[in-house]
Amino acid sequence: MLFDVDGTLVSTGGRAGAALASALEETFGTAGPWESFRYSGKTDPQIVFELMGLAGLPRSAVEPRLPAVIAHYLGRLRDALSGDAVQVLPGVRELLAELAGTPGVHLGLLTGNVAPGAAIKLGAAGLDGAFAIGAYGSDDEDRNKLVAVARDRAREHWGDEFAGFRTVVIGDAEADVACARAGGARSVAVASGWTNRGQLASLGPDALLDTLEPPAALAAILG
Ligand SMILES: [Mg+2]
Repeated sequence: MLFDVDGTLVSTGGRAGAALASALEETFGTAGPWESFRYSGKTDPQIVFELMGLAGLPRSAVEPRLPAVIAHYLGRLRDALSGDAVQVLPGVRELLAELAGTPGVHLGLLTGNVAPGAAIKLGAAGLDGAFAIGAYGSDDEDRNKLVAVARDRAREHWGDEFAGFRTVVIGDAEADVACARAGGARSVAVASGWTNRGQLASLGPDALLDTLEPPAALAAILG
């Protein structure tokens, strides 16, 4: 079971986007049109390249400074998410507890966040430790390649890559459904983020939920 982070497990109330914008401003002197930009479902490197492209900076000018942007971002994210800034979405804690107690079920992440960014967000939410493996935006800019990355990690960790529909990708954006399909995995879409139920339904996910509250979410995820 591979969970997306933002809009699926937690909400940072826009604080993470603002932290990245501030890091872009510091590195490039502009954050581009970040307030109207659609972050949902995109990997962190993809967001950086797209926003800077919209600000007129070619990829070749952005790429060498990507590590600096991410370093600035992580510092700002840590500050922005101190206290009670991260909201755990409805049903998430209960669902994860149920899944953790279900024989044969293993939990991982599939997220566009860079790995340390996901750790900061989940740590602030008290959800760190729930996921044994992850595939991240720091592994590949292209989310459609991340199911394969997660399967490699699952094979290393559990000795099983969970082929075909034994891998389930749970996420709130079109890109989550698309990457499940690209990776030959089962897709469970949840309309708890920025993408509404109708938009998600039009993509034909294998299951569609309003929230991750059990028992409906447990039934949908276990198929
Ligand atoms: Mg998301």
